[in-house]
Amino acid sequence: MNICMIGAGYVGLVSAACFSEFGWTVTCVDKDPQRLAELKDGKSPIYEPGLDDLLQRNMAAGRLLFTDNLGPAAKNADVILLAVGTPMRRGDGYADLSYVYAAVEEIAPHLKGFTVIVTKSTVPVGTSREIERRLRAARSDGDFAICSNPEFLREGSAIQDFMHPDRVLVGTDDERAKDVMGRLYQPLALRSAPVMFVGRESAELAKYAANAFLALKISFINEIADLCEQVGADVQELASAIGKDRRIGDKFLHPGPGYGGSCFPKDVSALIRTARENKSPVSLIEQVQRVNDERKIAMAHRVEAAAGGSVRGKTIAILGATFKPNTDDMRDAPSLIIVPMLQERGATVRVVDPQGRRQAEPLLPGVTWSESALEAAAGADVLVTVTEWNEFRALDLKAAKAKMRGDVLVDLRNVFTAELAHAAGFRYSAVGRKPEE
Ligand code: NAD
Repeated sequence: MNICMIGAGYVGLVSAACFSEFGWTVTCVDKDPQRLAELKDGKSPIYEPGLDDLLQRNMAAGRLLFTDNLGPAAKNADVILLAVGTPMRRGDGYADLSYVYAAVEEIAPHLKGFTVIVTKSTVPVGTSREIERRLRAARSDGDFAICSNPEFLREGSAIQDFMHPDRVLVGTDDERAKDVMGRLYQPLALRSAPVMFVGRESAELAKYAANAFLALKISFINEIADLCEQVGADVQELASAIGKDRRIGDKFLHPGPGYGGSCFPKDVSALIRTARENKSPVSLIEQVQRVNDERKIAMAHRVEAAAGGSVRGKTIAILGATFKPNTDDMRDAPSLIIVPMLQERGATVRVVDPQGRRQAEPLLPGVTWSESALEAAAGADVLVTVTEWNEFRALDLKAAKAKMRGDVLVDLRNVFTAELAHAAGFRYSAVGRKPEE
């Protein structure tokens, strides 16, 4: 099977590499010259565990190619997957579909033979229908079907998620497209991940509903965590208790500084917009968004309070900048709110992140970058965990405390325990646990 993947970002690159691992021939098209240069050198332009190996192996086998030349790749393809970005549109919060429609316009002249065109990008309900309308207008002679195939992988475990999905969702009514999509994912059927065929609108909306539900779970536990602090309960005890109930489940019950990343904030926003436009507002999800926006701001206030009411003239060491561990992605990371707020209030901020510096540096002006947590801690008044990278979990708190000027540890990810922190001489504040008297 010949596959053309448009967009070599987090989703396009991982999916392309995994499809080539199945044995398919995949040509990945991107417009970013720097990204392409790195890829042609066998290096991943993004950090994703295991991706370099997968790329190198399949490139060496001649099954995975990178190009900026769409024409030949599209002409020879049985399947063309759109994996371009759909960021939040400035001004109204709707999904910006300009990259999607630009790519559709570019492929139109090259379609040859029956081709299945797949939206792997997260697109608002109705987009596949609109793509079809545009393509039919451009190519009345064309033989193609448009499917929705939303991607559910998570950055940081993207390869594992792609190879072992809970489900593969395909939205189409076209029988020929069903056959092609069934074959495309056939290798996963051996791992008992059958393709679920649904209507296009259901597939498109399901992706937004899934992300909104997960965002809701996070905002829920964050509010419960605040309540725990007020009444002397421990949110982690509570989360494991309620998580045992299979109707609730134990995932996504970890309180923290609010959700971020390239998907939840923009997808929640786009869903709200779609719902309003269709006169069926999702007021619950609107509240989720509000709670999350306020959460990030509250985290900066929390650091300020832990520092004695003011951070002016203080040095704050921030452990972790990316929105979660095992990725270099900085899109909508809580650190982008917390760090500037601390700087505005007069703090000197140091940041350490195992993989995020390249993306974070232009977004966090005025911070000093450290190579390690211990280096960041040296001379600092306050230590704050913002992202729970494993190497921070393993931090020697006694050694960190010994290097610091102050003794405050604000643990926004509940990486440590009060016992460990106290034993190291810290005044410790965590999320969802009763604050120290
Ligand atoms: P990204 O920004 O990392 O990558 C998009 C890539 O597309 C870029 O490399 C860009 O240069 C390229 N591109 C844009 N227009 C192009 C064109 N006309 N021709 C060729 N290349 C083009 O985006 P991403 O994070 O991979 O997300 C892609 C889509 O997948 C989005 O809709 C997103 O919501 C969805 N998604 C993302 C994730 C995730 O974890 N990142 C998970 C599930 C779904």
